[in-house]
Amino acid sequence: MAILKFAPQALKNLFLKPVTTTYPAEPYVYPERSRGHIEISIDDCISCGMCVRACPCGTLAVDRNAGTWSIDRMDCIACGFCVEKCPKKCLTMVPGYQTPGGEKKTEVFQKSPEVMAAEEAKRKEAAEKAKAAAAAKAAAAAAAKAAEGQETPAQ
Ligand code: SF4
Ligand code: SF4
Repeated sequence: MAILKFAPQALKNLFLKPVTTTYPAEPYVYPERSRGHIEISIDDCISCGMCVRACPCGTLAVDRNAGTWSIDRMDCIACGFCVEKCPKKCLTMVPGYQTPGGEKKTEVFQKSPEVMAAEEAKRKEAAEKAKAAAAAKAAAAAAAKAAEGQETPAQ
């Protein structure tokens, strides 16, 4: 009797495609929102360090002067906090896992020379503006002091 119970499903299965795939010949398609690994669009990164501060595992490091962003993938728990915090939206959680490796190593991403040069030019411009503003402020203070001295009547 039990066989009759399963007969409809057995008959139906005869006409369905197999649910298994021929992985790895046929690549696995990950669900759209699966947590795989973090990727960065490094040239959009402003080295603010928000992702580093958000990471609960101490997995990330940013070096503003060297223009690098690095990740220890074996420490990453794919929580996605860094992706949420990045103000430039240059981090993404990508479906699919990293290729397994035999040793623990830090993956370093380097900004392009063009972006580094543009950032350096911006830094110089900002420093020059700050210097000019400070000089103007000092000159105004000196002028005010001199004017105050002229206005004071001789005793
Ligand atoms: S996904 Fe989580 S653990 Fe991985 S680098 Fe981002 S914040 Fe750190
Ligand atoms: S939060 Fe985004 S912009 Fe800031 S250092 Fe991290 S990756 Fe770069």
